[in-house]
Amino acid sequence: MEKFDVVIIGAGAAGLFCAAQAGQRGRRVLLLDNGKKAGRKILMSGGGRCNFTNLYTDPAAYLSHNPHFCKSALARYTQWDFIDLVNRHGIPWHEKALGQLFCDDSAQQIVDLLLKECEAGKVTLRLRSEVLAVKRDAAGYTLDLNGSAVQAEKLVIATGGLSMPGLGASPFGYKIAQQFGLKVFPTRAGLVPFTLHRPLLAQLQTLSGVSVPAVMTAEDGTVFKEALLFTHRGLSGPAVLQISSYWRPGEFVTINLSPECDLNALINEQREAHANQSLRNTLAKVLPRRLVECLQLLGHVPECTLKQLNSRQQSELVALLHHWRVQPNGTEGYRTAEVTLGGVDTHGLSSKTMEAQDVPGLYFIGEVVDVTGWLGGYNFQWAWSSAWACGQAL
Ligand SMILES: Cc1cc2nc3c(=O)[nH]c(=O)nc-3n(C[C@H](O)[C@H](O)[C@H](O)COP(=O)(O)OP(=O)(O)OC[C@H]3O[C@@H](n4cnc5c(N)ncnc54)[C@H](O)[C@@H]3O)c2cc1C
Repeated sequence: MEKFDVVIIGAGAAGLFCAAQAGQRGRRVLLLDNGKKAGRKILMSGGGRCNFTNLYTDPAAYLSHNPHFCKSALARYTQWDFIDLVNRHGIPWHEKALGQLFCDDSAQQIVDLLLKECEAGKVTLRLRSEVLAVKRDAAGYTLDLNGSAVQAEKLVIATGGLSMPGLGASPFGYKIAQQFGLKVFPTRAGLVPFTLHRPLLAQLQTLSGVSVPAVMTAEDGTVFKEALLFTHRGLSGPAVLQISSYWRPGEFVTINLSPECDLNALINEQREAHANQSLRNTLAKVLPRRLVECLQLLGHVPECTLKQLNSRQQSELVALLHHWRVQPNGTEGYRTAEVTLGGVDTHGLSSKTMEAQDVPGLYFIGEVVDVTGWLGGYNFQWAWSSAWACGQAL
């Protein structure tokens, strides 16, 4: 039987980075993945340019049942450390917005960086490898690999979450956690578009493709100010993806469709200056015309001039545009979600090493763990930081 110091299951962001760290520290590492390519999600990420970290990475940007857990790893391997690594590989990058860093050219460069780092650590990478069973005995862990078996002192689970099953996502990591007695929190799709109930969906369908800056508020008070995009299935765009991680079925979200302009003040000012101006044209100064026309068809924007608009109509319209309460029907689910919330309970893991407290030699890193970041490079940073912490301990 082949023997290694460490077997890592999952050659995604976390698994590749952890393998490189452990390999470069002299460990004999086998990195397994069920896919035919390493780092498939990285290649798809950031519209093909990989939003590889965020300048403002902070524990507050992560959701977890144990919000303190991520602090140690994020402090020990920071966004600056990863930026330094990207620079050392000569990969040009830029900040897009809100501290989000992207490759100038291609996400492939991040995968190449990780593969080169693995090479430097003499990591054995085996793709198209299905792990059928894992057993633990005095010698460590034995993996049944569909025809062959490998043994290692230490086993790292880096199999990610359930989002995008087309990219190899599987519940394998959660099953291993349960097999070894760790608690797993129920999972749900995060950073995912909302679907809408009929008739609202049909009413808004003409808006498909329209984007507006918006402020979205969840029922727990979480607020995001980013773009909202109307789609033929419902609502998407960064503001919606962000708030979706804080939303539970049945809840409402409140949307301010004109965060930069106080519409009550605008209407009052414009009425003073141009009393005969139509309400529609007034609103179209600050909102997309298609949105105004749609609201008019739905009866929310009366067909009248500013002087004809009565105060009840005005306050109803202003309330709708600044505090639009929407009850999503659901989300698009794992099919399009960028991340999976929930997962392996961090109370059973060491925040310094990612090792299971009651199962020596078993580690969990990356998205399989109950730590989920905001949109904007935070999830890759968690993958790098948790992988690094684990890699130092292997
Ligand atoms: C479309 C898309 C775009 C994204 N864009 C960004 C972005 O720009 N910035 C950002 O920070 N985050 C982004 N994310 C989130 C980010 O990709 C993940 O948080 C991150 O990849 C998690 O890393 P991971 O290594 O834990 O898991 P993954 O990268 O998902 O890797 C897990 C690996 O395990 C393998 N695997 C699973 N089950 C098994 C098994 N049973 N046996 C063997 N191998 C297995 C999978 O094939 C996969 O290669 C995006 C996600 C998606 C889906």
